[in-house]
Parts: sequence; C-alpha cells; structure tokens
Amino acid sequence: MTATFSFDLKATDGKARTGVINTPRGDIRTPAFMPVGTAATVKAMMPESVAATGADILLGNTYHLMLRPTAERIDRLGGLHQFMNWDKPILTDSGGFQVMSLSDLRKLTEEGVTFKSHIDGSRHHLTPERSMEIQKLLGSDIVMCFDECPALPADRKRIQESMELSMRWAQRSRDAFGDRPGHALFGIQQGGLEEDLRGRSAEALRAIEFDGYAVGGLAVGEGQEAMFKVLDFAPDQLPVDKPRYLMGVGKPDDIVGAVKRGIDMMDCVLPSRSGRTGQAFTRRGVVNIKNARHADDPRPLDAECTCPACSNYSRAYLHHVFRAQEMISGMLLTWHNLHYFQEIMAGMRTAIAAGAFADWEADFHAGRAKGDIAPL
Ligand SMILES: [Zn+2]
Repeated sequence: MTATFSFDLKATDGKARTGVINTPRGDIRTPAFMPVGTAATVKAMMPESVAATGADILLGNTYHLMLRPTAERIDRLGGLHQFMNWDKPILTDSGGFQVMSLSDLRKLTEEGVTFKSHIDGSRHHLTPERSMEIQKLLGSDIVMCFDECPALPADRKRIQESMELSMRWAQRSRDAFGDRPGHALFGIQQGGLEEDLRGRSAEALRAIEFDGYAVGGLAVGEGQEAMFKVLDFAPDQLPVDKPRYLMGVGKPDDIVGAVKRGIDMMDCVLPSRSGRTGQAFTRRGVVNIKNARHADDPRPLDAECTCPACSNYSRAYLHHVFRAQEMISGMLLTWHNLHYFQEIMAGMRTAIAAGAFADWEADFHAGRAKGDIAPL
C-alpha cells in the first residue's frame, strides 16, 4: 500500500509485461482484468465474491451512474466504494463511449455532448469538465479522460477530426482534473486503425502527461485481426513506464493476444454478460450450458477449475437451473467466468515473470483446440 499512484514494471517477456500498479486502495497486479460493475454492481455477484475470483480492481460506468442514481447522490452517500461495498480500486470510464452508443438524440460540439437519457428521456450535457467532476464525486481511483469514439468503419477524415477533438478534450480533462495525489488520470489514444493518426494521438497525450494511457476506439466491431494489427504498433507508441489499458476487451483469446502485444489492463462485460445467457468460458473453449447434452451429465463444467460452480455443482444442475430460469444460474456461471478470466491473467503474470510466456500461450491455445469434453 502507498499514498500515491505509481506503476512498477517488474518483468517483460517479448512485448508482454507484468508489474504492479500501486494505489492507496491496494495493489493492482498486471496484466489485470477488470470486471465491469456498470450500475454499481457486477451483475449477479456480491462484491466479496468478485474479490474472491482474484479481481484487484473493477470498472464503473460514468454514463449509467450519472443518470441513476446520480453522482451527487453517490457522493452524499460516501462515494462509490462505500455505496457498493467495494474497498479496492475502481476505474471509471468517462461516459463518452456510452453517450455515443446508448443515448438518444446526441448533439456533439467543441464544448461537449448533449444527449437524452435512454432511461427517462431527460436531457443531459457532458463535457470534459463535467466528466472529471462526476468521476471525482464517485471517488474513482483511476479516472478516464473524456473522449469521442467514432463507430467503425469511418472514413479517415472523420477519424482524424474525432481524434483531434479528443486530444483537445484530453487537455481540458487534464486541466479540470487538477492535482489529486493518490488518484490517477489516464489519457486515451484514438486514431482508428491508422498508424500515423495513432502516433499523433500518442504524441499529443505524452505532451500533456498522464498517469497511464489507454488504447481507445478498438473492440467496436473491427474484428480481432484488425484489432491485433493496431496492437502491433499502438502500445509501442505509448510510454514504457506507465500502464497501458485496452478498453472493452474481450474474449479470452483477445486478452491473451493483447497482453502478448504489450497491454497491461483490460475490461469487458463478456464474462458476466455471458454468464447470464448460459455461456461458460473454459480452458477447452466455450460451453453452452443450455445444450441438451448436459441434462444428465454429473461431471463439473471444468474439472480443473476451483470456482464454486465447478467445485460443488454438476453440468446437469447448471443446465437445469438455466432452463428453469433460476437466479442461481447467472450467479454460478458468472462466478465461473470471472474466475476463469482471472486465472488466465494470473497464469500470464506468472509466465511472463518466468520468461515462459510463449509456452504458456501454446498451452492456452492447445487446450482450446481440444474442444469441450465428449458427451457421456
Ligand atoms: Zn469454474
């Protein structure tokens, strides 16, 4: 524990890195996967259960929380950590991405974005200054710059204009954030799939100086091949001695591929969302528990997994409670998925520290290639 925010890069193996982000609320071991607690909860999970899966940090969504229950109310109730009973670090996004993807009737200007709430149609205005204020009210440990993220595909002119606007907003975010010891502000690189625009964005962010740097504008439908192409150069454009965060990623093989290319942090709704739709990620690939083949199967989902779903329940039970739409279905599968994602991260951290990432990666892909266990 420390009173300030810092990053210790402990070891590298190829481009893959492992280290520790020190914060006053605890250490974040990297590479780190952040479960998403959209509305001040990781759906279907108690906070202590999220911690038990091995998560050092979770993500909260500014857009959702500003609309309901509002940042001011959370502040009055002691901040987001106390409100949701999570005392470890929290990263909040800036709201920019979700304003674009979820809200109605948006109007974008140099000043910011005006939009209508998808919940009740009420009108809101979000600017870099307001986003910094909201994230401060929430008590976020890692605050993200307010940025604009155009949907892909978009033409180069649109990508460039959007990136340049985001860089002006990055400076305004930095100015509004001020000096807050123990709290970090991350800049967000934009520039679509274009190496030179990404380079210019990185240059602008480095000139402003941030505590960490995110690769933004990916995982928006471009596909894994295009994303990896960008990750072949984007992390190298960012400072070596600061955490690098890939926003909104991803599936297990996306995560492994991103770490291989120099990413330290990621977040995604996938393990929790899939848990509620009957999808389990295992070391032998994806299992759809609703499939009739599991109805009489007394074996666990994954015999090697130590999570509660795999330790105490059969595939037959998981199949039954999913079919019966019982709440425990989402609870158990979400726990398993989050546990598995954290096992991947822990495995990579150990392998990178030992200089054995390539072997670990080969095992990871070999397990998936086997496919699920044969039906009884
Ligand atoms: Zn499990």
